[in-house]
Amino acid sequence: MSHHGLLLVLSGPSGVGKGTLVSLLTETDKNVVVSVSATTRAPRAGEIHGKSYYFLSQEEFARMEGAGEFLEFSHHFGNGYGTPKQTVLNAMAEGKTVLLEIDVNGALAVKQAMPESVLIMIAPPDFKALKDRLTKRNTESAEVIANRISRAAFELSKTELYDYVVVNDNLTEALENIQAIILAEKSKTARSGETIKKIMEE
Ligand code: 5GP
Repeated sequence: MSHHGLLLVLSGPSGVGKGTLVSLLTETDKNVVVSVSATTRAPRAGEIHGKSYYFLSQEEFARMEGAGEFLEFSHHFGNGYGTPKQTVLNAMAEGKTVLLEIDVNGALAVKQAMPESVLIMIAPPDFKALKDRLTKRNTESAEVIANRISRAAFELSKTELYDYVVVNDNLTEALENIQAIILAEKSKTARSGETIKKIMEE
């Protein structure tokens, strides 16, 4: 199967504004779609099957895992999470830019499975500000907050394995930077075989 769309993976520490950027990207470009992950965890209040996640039974998740139907998957806190491969490939075949919002390990697994994927790390302007923001969400225990901070440091330490880094200091600028990356990646000669063929035929 040939893929014409772009596979864009966004990662970054919790609290960096990834979710907002993903929403803005889909709102401003109708060609951008977000991949919905599958999970075995129970839906939280307000979450919608097929929109927030595909909520699957342990059995169905294990079946998909065994059948190689995930582009990448991992287990967090006893629950399975995975990116369904076929829906991503179908959207790409339609020429869509497919966005995955996943952690570093998932992103690197995607890069291995599909080297043409484009990995973008969303980074905070400074680590201290991010730490303060995570600490101020005082709905959680000190232990949960400490875990999240060390996880954030781990994620950022893998930035050099990414294709791009976008610092989210100003939301509009960060959005424009990602849009510029999408445009540049779509213009790459390696992806232009079909375009040139069409030009030559006309
Ligand atoms: P939550 O249960 O809070 O929605 O997510 C828990 C963790 O699972 C988060 O770190 C989230 O990034 C991760 N996650 C969500 N979807 C996927 C996925 O498709 N693949 C992987 N590897 N992790 C995911």
